[in-house]
Amino acid sequence: MHYQPQRDLLQKRIILVTGASDGIGREAALTYARHGAAVILLGRNEDKLRAVGQQIESEGLPAAQWFTLDLLTCTPEACQQLAQNIALHAPRLDGVLHNAGLLGDVAPMAEQRPEVWQQVMQVNVNATFMLTQALLPLLLKSDCGSLVFTSSSVGREGRANWGAYAASKFATEGMMQVLAEEYQGRLRVNCINPGGTRTGMRASAFPTEDPLKLKTPADIMPVYLWLMGDDSRRKTGMTFDAQPGRKPGIAQ
Ligand code: NDP
Repeated sequence: MHYQPQRDLLQKRIILVTGASDGIGREAALTYARHGAAVILLGRNEDKLRAVGQQIESEGLPAAQWFTLDLLTCTPEACQQLAQNIALHAPRLDGVLHNAGLLGDVAPMAEQRPEVWQQVMQVNVNATFMLTQALLPLLLKSDCGSLVFTSSSVGREGRANWGAYAASKFATEGMMQVLAEEYQGRLRVNCINPGGTRTGMRASAFPTEDPLKLKTPADIMPVYLWLMGDDSRRKTGMTFDAQPGRKPGIAQ
């Protein structure tokens, strides 16, 4: 995507990023902060979140807040409590990027371990839903709210061996479409499909792939910025490819 965002695109915006401790989420949080946003980092590992917060501070950017929540074990009550804690520091949320995700078993359906299947559904679907429910009141306080989910090419067309992960991303696309219709005119809701990107998750999915053949998280940030800012203001209910035209599968 060729997009030249204004340096102050996200000035005065408050944006929460899940899975902000690593990979694409870490880069998105840094990128949003570099474009003026006050960011709220969510993750399960306090040390990693603190390091991202320190990186933001070391660049002289608006200070980040961080909160820990393990999406594997979180309950609706824990998500509501988190939203209340956030509301003590933030009057509203102008953006939420649901980015945290779990890969699970890359294996045929017959070999998908039921307990791992449930973990993938818990993190990618159930916790994402519970967190959305809890954060909606804060998002609706913004006059430019943008709710962004993270999908995958296997969330639009199933492929062998992607089991729980593919099913969870289809569910994510469905959740996005339902919310987009329900909140038409009040909140926009979209998905990003990052496409193969150089992260830890990608390396575990394709251990033989040469990571240098993949785009980095920094390379795919234009669409992440565009969807949080005013340049995409009328877009809702859609899925955007961070790497349009990229063929799914191992990088050649
Ligand atoms: P990473 O594995 O690099 O990062 C995943 C993030 O999610 C980390 O911050 C991780 O935290 C967090 N996370 C995982 N489990 C939990 C949990 N139980 N509770 C809280 N946080 C958790 O993945 P990517 O950056 O590659 O992926 C980001 C998103 O992009 C995912 O939704 C993924 O499905 C999607 N995606 C990625 C592609 C790629 O090629 N990389 C392609 C298509 C989609 P911690 O640091 O503690 O592990």
